[in-house]
Amino acid sequence: MNYYNIQVVFQEVPGEISICFSICGCKLKCKGCHSPFLWNEKTGELLTENIFNSTLNKYKGFASTVLFMGGEWHCKELLGYLQNAQLQGFKTCLYSGEEDIKYELQEHLTWLKIGAWNPDLGGLDSAITNQKFIEVKSNRILNNLFIKN
Ligand code: SF4
Repeated sequence: MNYYNIQVVFQEVPGEISICFSICGCKLKCKGCHSPFLWNEKTGELLTENIFNSTLNKYKGFASTVLFMGGEWHCKELLGYLQNAQLQGFKTCLYSGEEDIKYELQEHLTWLKIGAWNPDLGGLDSAITNQKFIEVKSNRILNNLFIKN
């Protein structure tokens, strides 16, 4: 599977510093998508074990979570990277536009964001959003962590 970029992000998982891998090939094509550059599966670079491990090594002790923006369409590969991240002591998160994610992936996720982008409903910081940010183990919806007072 190809990645478009790798960034350290601070807001996508509340309270965590996350290494974010943006994966190419999203098929959902949501109206008003903020990342249409992720639609083409062939853009970006191949994510290899070597690139993944060297990135995690670089941020070990600083970042606490490995976050994937998409990639659930490469279930087996994504599963391998989630397991690898957990073995190295990282928490894990997947941002997906789907409503449902395979159980085998959920088993290796600390958090999961589901739901397509709908500009009329807004993102996780909107009180009327269709999206959900879930703590997988407890199945608790934690959208409240994104709402600004
Ligand atoms: S799920 Fe995200 S990346 Fe995919 S089309 Fe929708 S907004 Fe864009």
